[in-house]
Amino acid sequence: MTKRNKIIQNIFALYYPDARCTLNFANPFQCLVATCLSAQTNDKAVNLLTPSLFSKYKDAYELSKADYEDVKNCIKRLGLYKNKANNLIKLSQEIVSRFDGKVPSSLKDLISLPGVGIKTASVVLAESFNIPSFPIDTHCSRVLIRLGIAKEGDSIETIMDKAKKSFSKDRWISLHHQIIQHGRTICLARKAKCEECPFKELCTFKANVL
Ligand code: SF4
Repeated sequence: MTKRNKIIQNIFALYYPDARCTLNFANPFQCLVATCLSAQTNDKAVNLLTPSLFSKYKDAYELSKADYEDVKNCIKRLGLYKNKANNLIKLSQEIVSRFDGKVPSSLKDLISLPGVGIKTASVVLAESFNIPSFPIDTHCSRVLIRLGIAKEGDSIETIMDKAKKSFSKDRWISLHHQIIQHGRTICLARKAKCEECPFKELCTFKANVL
């Protein structure tokens, strides 16, 4: 790891020691469902409706037999709710038929499920199985580009690879939460608060653009 990346990693740990996943769930299946629902939506909106969804459909077996209209109604306040309802039922059916009702714990198996991309799969690996992963959402992507770890135009996979190569493996999970918190509070998409940012002395974006 370069000296610069070590400093970045340490600053994140210092400023965001309590950063955690902000979705609510109690097991791998709920984690997978909540993460799928959070696409293009904020976590608070997901947390408002998952308690009733989870009490109605307790596991993959129950959700695999759910009525599409009912699931759609349960989640209709979220963006892309029709696709999400469809995918939740289909992925539950596959979990039942291919994995004995248990959420798989490998990236390859997770991304083989309907509607599950590399970001959702990485969240499930990190949060449910404690497997070192570096989920890249919109905040992670923006902050990593601005800090010069990745560059504009990089795919999500490339940004994830660069992040993994740049930081200690045992820090990937906590670091991705810390980066998200930084992106939500300081390094905002439209108006980054650079003057109050702990990275202002070493930020590529601030040095080149502002
Ligand atoms: S200095 Fe500005 S652009 Fe750079 S990480 Fe901080 S808030 Fe983001």
